[in-house]
Amino acid sequence: MILPFAESYKIKMVETIRKSTREERERWMKEAHYNLFNLKSDYVFIDLLTDSGTGAMSDKQWAAMMEGDESYAGARSYYKLKESIKDITGFDYFLPTHQGRAAENVLFSSIIKEGDILPGNSHFDTTKGHIEFRKAHAVDCTVDVAKDTTAELPFKGNIDLNKLEDVLKKYPKENIPCIVLTVTNNTAGGQPVSMENIKGTAALAKKYGVKLLFDSARFAENAYFIKTREEGYSAKSVVDICREMFSHADFMTMSSKKDAIVNIGGFIAFRDEEDWKGCQMYNIMFEGFITYGGMAGRDMSALAQGLKEGTDFDYLQTRISQVAYLGKKLDEYGIPYQRPAGGHAIFVDAKKILTKVPQQEYVAQTLGIELYLEGGVRGVEIGTLLADRDPVTRENRYPSLELLRLAIPRRVYTNNHMDFIAAALRNVFERRDSITRGYKIVKELPIMRHFTVELEPLG
Ligand SMILES: *Cc1c(COP(=O)(O)O)cnc(C)c1O
Repeated sequence: MILPFAESYKIKMVETIRKSTREERERWMKEAHYNLFNLKSDYVFIDLLTDSGTGAMSDKQWAAMMEGDESYAGARSYYKLKESIKDITGFDYFLPTHQGRAAENVLFSSIIKEGDILPGNSHFDTTKGHIEFRKAHAVDCTVDVAKDTTAELPFKGNIDLNKLEDVLKKYPKENIPCIVLTVTNNTAGGQPVSMENIKGTAALAKKYGVKLLFDSARFAENAYFIKTREEGYSAKSVVDICREMFSHADFMTMSSKKDAIVNIGGFIAFRDEEDWKGCQMYNIMFEGFITYGGMAGRDMSALAQGLKEGTDFDYLQTRISQVAYLGKKLDEYGIPYQRPAGGHAIFVDAKKILTKVPQQEYVAQTLGIELYLEGGVRGVEIGTLLADRDPVTRENRYPSLELLRLAIPRRVYTNNHMDFIAAALRNVFERRDSITRGYKIVKELPIMRHFTVELEPLG
């Protein structure tokens, strides 16, 4: 008998989670104004809101925390982290920041001016927020096939090189501070970008004299997909693939809360000393001195270790197999999602399930609320709420997809939890035709409204 696949770690510490009754959940959901972000975590049984900062640290990471050096300047922990970043990315220069959006804030303060254009593949919400806040524009050049959730393709996160070149041709290079390549492409469903596409993007960047930024939160998962899906990479190590990926970029922003498996942290890394220097002032103003940037020494030490663990093949195989396991369960039940299963999450195709709910009534949000009411499982809307309003017309932007993202925290849940999630979703799926109305907005902020929006049920 071929030995079955099993997790590459065992459990040393546990945290109790509790189920609740449907009655309780209905009350809590109403009190939260039908925004899943407003729920107390104690009211959630399985929390798939995000894979950001929700991972379980290892014994080695906790040990590294004890060795953290809390010196204000030049801490040992900083140099440990610098070595780890250099080893995996090849970048010589870096600035710590307290998380990924802070890295964006610092870098963009240095390189973006009003009216600038930043083409990319489905800019992440905070990235787009930081661009639009500076009155610059994020131009989405993702491949069209990413919008077809049924297309079973290996690299649906790719940038469309023709669309990208059109943008690069149209605007002078002085107005394009960089191209933003997000690896993996979160918004398109945790879908990876191929090495071929990375090379093509880098070649265009070079041709038009613009810089290339990697939004790198899930770079290791991207490298795993390159290793397992792209020709010529199966024999290469994940770290070698990471080095090759980053060899094509000028700089990177990192949310360490994802693939580096820490609860908080981020950084910017640079190839050129000049780019690094250009950001130092903003790092000092917004984050902290250039050798800690809003992070405790112990957190930098845990991050240095987390980068190593996050790029370990056995760990990545365990993680990505768990996401695929949930995908297979949904296949059994006929529930549509963005195919193939992504790196960090399953993106359920809400529009295909709640066909009677109009898009103006927030379809994916409606499905998210139903799933919570059904089983205390919390996902997150990737749809019209997230897409926000057009900055000029203030009209809702209706994306072609309404997705409910079920993000799987790293090293936290077991496959029994995956079975529970799939069963809860199946129950909602089976009564889908009885769900005909969604929600309306009663309160919202002008930017990144989805975090705090308040809703009321219709009908
Ligand atoms: C999470 C994330 C960010 C923002 O990072 P935070 O640590 O949440 O501030 C930026 N880009 C991508 C692709 C992300 O996944």
